[in-house]
Amino acid sequence: MKFFVVLLVIMLGVWLWKRDRASGQDESVKPQKPKAAPPPNIASARPIVPCLHCGTHVDMAETVQGRLGRYCSKAHCTVHGDRPL
Ligand SMILES: [Zn+2]
Repeated sequence: MKFFVVLLVIMLGVWLWKRDRASGQDESVKPQKPKAAPPPNIASARPIVPCLHCGTHVDMAETVQGRLGRYCSKAHCTVHGDRPL
């Protein structure tokens, strides 16, 4: 009977030790929550338009306005048979 009680106490100790270790690991291994991407600032978004000649998307402010449409450069405007305004 004495042996059984000692065995029970050892088993209880091992169980408590494993439980503490497992909970400690969970906290250290817990993956960090990925930070949410900041919401896009629509007010500051600048329009991107494709070049009528080559299709390259360019910032609207950097395009060359022709009679037929917008181009990425003056050269593409003239190559396309258009004239910059
Ligand atoms: Zn172009």
